[in-house]
Amino acid sequence: KLFNELQDLKGNIRVYCRIRPFLPGQTGKQTIIENIGENGQLVIANPSKPGKDGQRSFKFNKVFGPAATQGEVFQDIQPFVQSVVDGYNVCIFAYGQTGSGKTYTMTGPNGATEEEWGVNYRALNCLFKISQNRRSTILYEVGVQMVEIYNEQVRDLLSSGGSQKKYPFLNEIDLGITTISQPNGLAVPDATMLPVISTSDVLDLMNIGLKNRAVGATALNERSSRSHSIVTIHVRGKDLKVGTTLYGNLHLVDLAGSERVDRSEVTGDRLKEAQHINKSLSSLGDVIFALAQKSPHVPYRNSKLTQVLQSSLGGQAKTLMFVQLNPDATSFSESMSTLKFAERVS
Ligand code: ADP
Ligand code: MG
Repeated sequence: KLFNELQDLKGNIRVYCRIRPFLPGQTGKQTIIENIGENGQLVIANPSKPGKDGQRSFKFNKVFGPAATQGEVFQDIQPFVQSVVDGYNVCIFAYGQTGSGKTYTMTGPNGATEEEWGVNYRALNCLFKISQNRRSTILYEVGVQMVEIYNEQVRDLLSSGGSQKKYPFLNEIDLGITTISQPNGLAVPDATMLPVISTSDVLDLMNIGLKNRAVGATALNERSSRSHSIVTIHVRGKDLKVGTTLYGNLHLVDLAGSERVDRSEVTGDRLKEAQHINKSLSSLGDVIFALAQKSPHVPYRNSKLTQVLQSSLGGQAKTLMFVQLNPDATSFSESMSTLKFAERVS
């Protein structure tokens, strides 16, 4: 049903809003979220302007409140993920200020249990399971790349310094499967692509990626909130009877924090970072806006981020944006700018 609904959407873009719960120990007095509507409606109230005057209402395809579980959220994503095996390109990304739950939605909390797994784990697991089930008639290959974009530069998060053989699932001879053949037009052709043929591969792979990301983070102090991380799942299905090959990909993107940086307070590297983030997030907004307007010109070339995501933005591709909110009243103005970003593209 969701899938049919997608056909009618403006530019195949869907926007989901997710509000994270107050964290244990968080002392915020009251939530600014006045009302979480059944039909994707959200009312936000300015804490310093009581009454109707301070209220703004927004409409999304869906709003997930603080009690929504990872499993519930994934139910509304699964049709997108599944369409990748039918040859669609899909992009799912999380937008919001640092601390609003982007990484929680896309990956899960640190040391997540299976219940707490975010979209990345669930999507990978879902795709490789589908590929296994259909294996008798169609030969599927699932490959994964993981990169980070920091200051307009792409860094491979799955590279293992040339000694890839230490990961057993790379031993294609033992497993008896062919290597993933990289299709033309791969967005980041140099980035390591690892095959996935089991749930433990999913876990291994995510671990490698998270570890590599953390290495950069200690060196550059919380770099993870100032870079975009992109997990790309490539699925190739070869129909053994008919001889046709389908190819689809899924980009899963944990964006850099969207918070405004006070230009008067930062200089040097920090200012440069802020400018790069600003540029890439506004380029992303421009691309999605152009797609939603069905504009003939879509400005993909303005940032590394939109170049890498191009295959899954526009055309037949489906795009899903998570708008993440911190419910704390002190986040009101950041929440408003997040909501305005979303309003422009939905
Ligand atoms: P971001 O990636 O946007 O900076 P995080 O995903 O790191 O934000 O979330 C900030 C904190 O809130 C983390 O401790 C995270 O585990 C917690 N958190 C976020 N969303 C939820 C949620 N839906 N349920 C429980 N805890 C959450
Ligand atoms: Mg994060």
